[in-house]
Amino acid sequence: MPEVKTRWVDGECWLCDQDGPVVWIGPVTTIFGTCPMFACQLCIERLEARVRRHNREQDNAPPT
Ligand SMILES: [Zn+2]
Repeated sequence: MPEVKTRWVDGECWLCDQDGPVVWIGPVTTIFGTCPMFACQLCIERLEARVRRHNREQDNAPPT
């Protein structure tokens, strides 16, 4: 499994508004444009759990 390289910077979490070390998690696109999105450790753990669950469901999906 490839190790995701994380670079922590000081900033505000886009998911929970907490100040602190945050890491870039990807671009977010809205009707107003695209921005880099940052998240704190806690939110990243939630995201990782969600991604894991999502990928597991994809793996178990019947072939189309
Ligand atoms: Zn957060």
